[in-house]
Amino acid sequence: LRDTGTPEDETELAIEGALRPSSLAEFVGQKKVRGQLQLLLDAARIQQRPADHILLSGPPGLGKTTLAMIVAHESGRPLRLSSGPAIQHAGDLAALLSSLTPGEVLFIDEVHRMARSAEEMLYLAMEDFRIDIMVGKGAGATSIPLDLAPFTLVGATTRSGLLPNPLRDRFGFTGHLEYYDPEELERVVERSAAMLGVALPPQARAEIARRSRGTPRIANRLLRRVRDYAIVHRTDADEASVAAALELYDVDSIGLDRLDRAVLDALVRRFRGGPVGLSTLAVAVGEEPETIESVVEPYLVRIGFMGRTPRGRVATPEAYAHLGAPHPDGVIR
Ligand code: ATP
Repeated sequence: LRDTGTPEDETELAIEGALRPSSLAEFVGQKKVRGQLQLLLDAARIQQRPADHILLSGPPGLGKTTLAMIVAHESGRPLRLSSGPAIQHAGDLAALLSSLTPGEVLFIDEVHRMARSAEEMLYLAMEDFRIDIMVGKGAGATSIPLDLAPFTLVGATTRSGLLPNPLRDRFGFTGHLEYYDPEELERVVERSAAMLGVALPPQARAEIARRSRGTPRIANRLLRRVRDYAIVHRTDADEASVAAALELYDVDSIGLDRLDRAVLDALVRRFRGGPVGLSTLAVAVGEEPETIESVVEPYLVRIGFMGRTPRGRVATPEAYAHLGAPHPDGVIR
C-alpha cells in the first residue's frame, strides 16, 4: 500500500487487470481526455486507418495502461505491451517494431526511459513507418531501410518534461491525466466492489474514496484490504472496517501514506520548511529522487501541502497543520 507504484504480486496484478474498464464509456472521470480520445478513435475508424500516436502523461495509477488497452479494444486492433526500461538498444526496438501486425497498437510505458539510440529510431518509425537498420561498424557500416506495418503508438510517461521535443512532437495527441475527485473515485470503488462481490455501504465507499490520494489504483487496493479485513474479522465491510484496515496499513485520515508523511516530516522538521533541493530531500527519506518527484510530490503539491520554488521545495502552513507542528510564524491552523 505504500505507494502508487506497480502491483507487488501476481494475484494483485490479476485482480487489478480484472477491474480494468474495457471501453471509454466504462472509464470513470478524465472527461476531457476521454472526449479527445473518442474523437481521435472515431476519425480513424471513419477513415479506416490506424489512430494517430497518443502520449499519456500523469502520475502512476491514474489509468494510462487502461486507456492504452481501451484504444486497442475500441479500434478492434491487437495490443502489444512494452516499456522504456525494456528497450535498452535500438535493436530491441527494431525487433519489436518489425514484428507488429498492420494496425497494431504498441504501448510503451515509461517511454522517457528508453535508450537514446532507440528514441532516434522511433522518430522515423512514428513518422514514416520505416526504420534504418545499421549493419556493420566503422567505415564499412551501411544502413538498410525497412518498411514497417502502420501502427499506433501509445506512450505513457510520468514525466513528460523529460521527453525530448522531437519525440513529443511526433505524437498526434497528448492527454494529461489528472488526479480524480472523491466523487469519481466513489464511482470507481462502487464498480469494483460490485465486481468483487463486496457489499459496501455508501459511507464506507466515500471514506475509501477520500483516502485514495486521487488515484483509482489506490482506491481499488484499499477496497481489497477492507475486504480482507471484513473476511478475517467476520464483519461487514463498513466504515469501521475501513478505518481499522487503513490504520493497519498506515494510511492517514486524508489518505497520505508513510512515504508522503516521511517527506512532509523531513521538510517541516528537519529542513524547517525549506526550501530544500529534491536530492537532499530524497536522501533524507531514503528514496530515489525520481520516486519523490513523480509519485510523492505531485499529490502534495495538488493538495497544497508543498510548493516548488526555484530554490527548492517548501512546506505550506497546511502541511504544518496536518503534522500538528507549530508554524515558524507562530500560526497553527
Ligand atoms: P502505471 O503508470 O503505474 O502503470 P497507470 O496510469 O497505467 O499506472 P492503470 O494500470 O491503467 O494505471 O490503472 C490502475 C488501476 O486503476 C487499474 O486496475 C484500473 O482498473 C483502475 N483504473 C484506472 N483508471 C480508472 C478509471 N478511470 N475507471 C475505473 N478504473 C480505473
